[in-house]
Amino acid sequence: MTLRTIGVVGAGTMGNGIAHVFAQAGFNVILNDIKDEFVAKGMGTITKNLQRNVDKGRATEADRDSVLARITCSTNLNDLAACDLVVEAIIEQLDIKLELFRKLDAILPQHAILASNTSSISITKLAAVTQRADRFIGMHFMNPVPVMKLVEIIRGIATSDACTKTIATLTETLGKVPVEVNDFPGFISNRVLLPMINEAIFALYEGVATKEAIDEVMKLGMNHPMGPLTLADFIGLDTCLFIMRVLHDGLGDDKYRPCPLLVKMVDAGYLGRKSGRGFYEY
Ligand code: NAD
Repeated sequence: MTLRTIGVVGAGTMGNGIAHVFAQAGFNVILNDIKDEFVAKGMGTITKNLQRNVDKGRATEADRDSVLARITCSTNLNDLAACDLVVEAIIEQLDIKLELFRKLDAILPQHAILASNTSSISITKLAAVTQRADRFIGMHFMNPVPVMKLVEIIRGIATSDACTKTIATLTETLGKVPVEVNDFPGFISNRVLLPMINEAIFALYEGVATKEAIDEVMKLGMNHPMGPLTLADFIGLDTCLFIMRVLHDGLGDDKYRPCPLLVKMVDAGYLGRKSGRGFYEY
């Protein structure tokens, strides 16, 4: 199937990056959010990131302008009626996503594919409120989208082989690497990453080592670009706790129980970088 027009719903951290990489690869993009100011903010970030490439001599001003010209701003879901694919990147709340997918399913043409960038919600559950579960898939981009190579491609229970192949090929067109996984809590990325972070927090909680020592061991010993506690602050401790709860509830195994120290820090409002204080102070 030839995909020409791509809708991106949600112009926040992930959505503007997703719109950026599609437009850069030559697709027409419609970037939608609930308010003009949110779309404008997303466009501002895209412009800033494109300008950085111009300043570094990696792109010309004409390149920047042609990427921007391929993105149309929207606050009306009906604007997406001609899309071949819509990638959803709105807030991580099940009821809000379900409502959006019900609406999109009614608006989009029969052939169109729906994709979600969710980090933790079941693709199968999201697909079930549409009449196109075979054409529904997870496209889990990593942050920052223009930089990170991986896209985790998540197959729901009913996602067809044809849809999976189309989306994997499309991901390659974006200059990224698709990796196919099945739909289970946390997929692969968060299923492996978050328990490691949680274990680092347990090590701190039990007094095995200081926070600096834990981060240093993982950086120097395992070649991780940043230690797990620094990374937790970067991701946001509330997001880490939320994903641990998804793993704990979804897989029903106590090995995924969130560390009590993580819970306590979130209760205190110590959410990491975004609140100025997490394991470290910012
Ligand atoms: P964000 O809060 O930065 O942006 C969300 C945007 O969605 C906001 O601009 C908001 O106005 C908009 N929005 C909310 N409801 C909407 C609706 N009904 N219709 C249209 N727009 C709506 O969030 P984010 O960090 O970009 O996360 C978006 C999704 O990507 C989430 O599902 C998250 O789990 C996932 N994700 C995030 C990261 C990350 O590192 N931030 C990484 C991978 C995946």
